[in-house]
Amino acid sequence: MDWRSHRPPIGADFDRSHNICQEKKFSFMSIFSVDTRAGIRYKGASRQKETKMAYVIFDLDGTVIDSSHRQATKADGSLDLDHWFANNTADKIMADSLLPLADSMRAVMAAGHKVVVCTARAIQPADKLFLAVNRLAYDALLHREIGNMESDSSLKIRLLEAYFISEGFNCAADAKAIMFDDNLKVIDAMLSIGIKCYNATHVNKRMAA
Ligand SMILES: [Mg+2]
Repeated sequence: MDWRSHRPPIGADFDRSHNICQEKKFSFMSIFSVDTRAGIRYKGASRQKETKMAYVIFDLDGTVIDSSHRQATKADGSLDLDHWFANNTADKIMADSLLPLADSMRAVMAAGHKVVVCTARAIQPADKLFLAVNRLAYDALLHREIGNMESDSSLKIRLLEAYFISEGFNCAADAKAIMFDDNLKVIDAMLSIGIKCYNATHVNKRMAA
């Protein structure tokens, strides 16, 4: 199959519907190409500049992890933070379950790409334990600082710009990273800084189909 047929949408064509491919059942690895000599390459970069190693960024809640059993939303649809903090206990964290993209996270790591977790959680030991017992390894874990109350969008822009600069890039866009997140505001924010962010809700649904 021609690799261009599965090329992820970019730029102005890249909207919230995120029609990565037309098949109902979404295959995560279809956005990578396999070269028998060079291994797995990410197809998002231009053909001339394909790199063997890609940065793939994963949000946690609603993307890789189903933590809905300990979430409550207010009447306006926003997360009830008081409820979240009251239920953000080790026991309840360990009762979370995995979404289909968790398998993709393992596959990306196994294929030798860089896995970056970028979450609005203020990480505590139980969060890391949950990732470890579920064999969800990562190269970097970017998270909210305790007490920080900035919006998820502004937090993730700041964390990712700083991370990619620390990796030697001039800015996040230069890393040609791809990302999965379920928060529409975050998706828009990531697209605005040049990170191709897929709607994790849609991707998980397609993968489960
Ligand atoms: Mg999320």
